[in-house]
Amino acid sequence: MKRIALFPGSFDPFTKGHEDIVLRSLGLFDEVVIAIGNNSSKSRYFPLDYMEMKIKESFIYQPKVKVTIFEGLTSNYAKTIGANFLLRGLRNTTDFEYENTICQANKFLNSELETILLITSPELAYISSSIVRDIHKYGGNVDAFLPYKL
Ligand code: ADP
Repeated sequence: MKRIALFPGSFDPFTKGHEDIVLRSLGLFDEVVIAIGNNSSKSRYFPLDYMEMKIKESFIYQPKVKVTIFEGLTSNYAKTIGANFLLRGLRNTTDFEYENTICQANKFLNSELETILLITSPELAYISSSIVRDIHKYGGNVDAFLPYKL
């Protein structure tokens, strides 16, 4: 059976922390689908299509990586694309509490789906999309946090 992992997130923006999780997961899976969640009730800082393009650009030399946009329940989307694994990253105990809850909810909704949590590389653990947004909003340079040029 092909091992397909779904890596869902807001990715507003996609950071070097996210990139690290994807690159390290490539040894575990045959295909990794990075899926940007489109939550119509939540407004974004970086437009969806723009972020999709930038993530694609970052993985242009990684044939196992696909990039998509999805709407609705992650567990349903995993079924739609035939993903048997859900990939997420863990930075700290706050992430753990959150990931623990959604992992169990997803397992209830789709019992076939196994969540795989990778611990963040320590040098990237402080990077968060919200910090990058704040720095960018006030004119700071965010190049060091992103795997692509804005
Ligand atoms: P969501 O809104 O679904 O939490 P995010 O885009 O914030 O989406 O994060 C997607 C996943 O990436 C989450 O599992 C999150 O814990 C993880 N993540 C975020 N930042 C980092 C980082 N610096 N290193 C590793 N994983 C990270």
